[in-house]
Amino acid sequence: MKTVLITGITGQDGAYLAKLLLEKNYMVIGTVRSNRCTNTKSFQYLGIEKDIILEELDLLDMANIIRIIQKYKPDEIYNLAAQSSVGLSYSQPIGTFSFNTISVNNLLESIRLFSPDTKLYQASSSEMYGRVENMPIRIETPMHPISPYGVSKMAAHFMVTTYRESYNIYASNGILFNHESFLRSGNFFIKKVIRDSIAIKNNTLKELRVGNLNVKRDFGYAPKYVEVMWKMMQLDEPDDFIICSGKSVLLRDIVDYIFDRMNLSKKLIVVDDSLFRPNEIKDIYGDNSKAKNILDWNYDDSFYDILDILIEEEMAQ
Ligand code: NAP
Repeated sequence: MKTVLITGITGQDGAYLAKLLLEKNYMVIGTVRSNRCTNTKSFQYLGIEKDIILEELDLLDMANIIRIIQKYKPDEIYNLAAQSSVGLSYSQPIGTFSFNTISVNNLLESIRLFSPDTKLYQASSSEMYGRVENMPIRIETPMHPISPYGVSKMAAHFMVTTYRESYNIYASNGILFNHESFLRSGNFFIKKVIRDSIAIKNNTLKELRVGNLNVKRDFGYAPKYVEVMWKMMQLDEPDDFIICSGKSVLLRDIVDYIFDRMNLSKKLIVVDDSLFRPNEIKDIYGDNSKAKNILDWNYDDSFYDILDILIEEEMAQ
């Protein structure tokens, strides 16, 4: 039986990945910031709360990481813990940059010194590319991040490639574009729009307040994206992959679609300038052909079909 360590297991991707790896008969260890404050709702939702082992871990404390690695000797580590909100990174730039980089350095150094056979997956992000000249984005597209979050992920990304090339350790970056699910936290756009629309329908909210809707993003479905993380780690050699749908969708079209599905008047959509970010990527989409060819990954889902699933799931709850 293989042993896996998942940091950020309480998050959207962590929970879906834990479920997938349990189905593949892994022993799943998830790390949490604090046992006292751990939100286990997503584990209950997926029915996995009894099957995972939770360990308290401060990823900023390398001695702590070494202790866990020596205790479990994991075959694979998936590093998903991060301050993951682009919006929040503008108001918490130092915390975002510090955590998202030092945690990765600590993991890499712990693996190099104490567990060189452990494979590391790092959650990289499309936000590293930021303002791009040419699309679709490929691995070699020059990066120009425009948020503290994007900068932090880029620094971590290159620390991973540096360790891979310098010390020959197995470390790979999964460069994921936006992906959504029922388990997305409420401060992210898609979840917020669906939740607020249901609240308007139920007369518990008057209107939907949103920021800039004139931007496009490449959205996908989290349960299908975590499959690729695992597939990447089964390759003989470490490598980086872009994981995306290959198409971008205008945020305004998404809001209109959700409002139409719920028979709500578009007059209830209020664009609020105070919710605009200091800087915004206008359009972004990637090229997923490398993942499709090498990892034998099938993904041709329309985001509108995914929205249907998300709306149904949210209504059912
Ligand atoms: P998420 O739902 O926001 O989960 C983030 C996880 O990181 C949570 O378990 C959270 O723990 C943990 N975390 C945050 N700050 C921490 C800190 N200071 N110390 C320890 N743990 C901390 O994120 P996600 O959507 O699952 O994404 C997983 C990873 O992929 C993240 O690294 C994210 O940046 C990256 N990514 C996500 C997307 C996307 O569209 N979802 C796209 C590209 C890359 P708590 O429960 O304690 O808060």
